[in-house]
Amino acid sequence: MPAEPARRPQAAPTSPAHSAAPRSVQGEVEVRRSARRRRTVSAYREDGRTVVLLPARMSEAEERRWVGLMLEKLARQEKRRRPTDEVLAERAGRLSAQYLGGRARPDSVRWVTNQNTRWGSCTPAEGSIRLSHRLQGMPEYVVDYVLLHELAHLLVPGHGPRFWELLEAYPRTERARGYLEGVAATARLPHTVDGDEDDEDESGGRAGG
Ligand SMILES: [Zn+2]
Repeated sequence: MPAEPARRPQAAPTSPAHSAAPRSVQGEVEVRRSARRRRTVSAYREDGRTVVLLPARMSEAEERRWVGLMLEKLARQEKRRRPTDEVLAERAGRLSAQYLGGRARPDSVRWVTNQNTRWGSCTPAEGSIRLSHRLQGMPEYVVDYVLLHELAHLLVPGHGPRFWELLEAYPRTERARGYLEGVAATARLPHTVDGDEDDEDESGGRAGG
């Protein structure tokens, strides 16, 4: 019969990252123990951290094992959900063809993790578009909107009337903007795609800064 783990003083409900836990690609791991939890273990990402919820009664060895398992599970889920740069480039091609008459032809479209104040950005001179990894896991129509927004900047730099005319063809522009505003309001994230989009100035030549 397996020995019961020795009873030891309960850890504080929130303990700092366990040094033995595998490093999370997204940053630190926070282990929270709950007396109400008996058997279930769960984990989620929050503000760049990974939070792992464990039952209060669990040995340190079990904690290490579960943290490792949950990090692997999250990474697998995210990999399934996350379109690669290649998929993103294909998507950009389809969106350009469908809504911009194929006129926007980026040389590179990629995900970036160092872009936290903007959902997207674009450098027309280089034909490059970057989307924030924070969009990953959001509904497809939202990612499509940001991608189309940046594609449109390859044709019109600022956020003037001519810019918004280009986006009129996309039926879910308003819905996507509303979605992003909602996310921003609860998570203190950017409120606009890549700058002040109520700015009428179209002469600045600033596309995503
Ligand atoms: Zn913009």
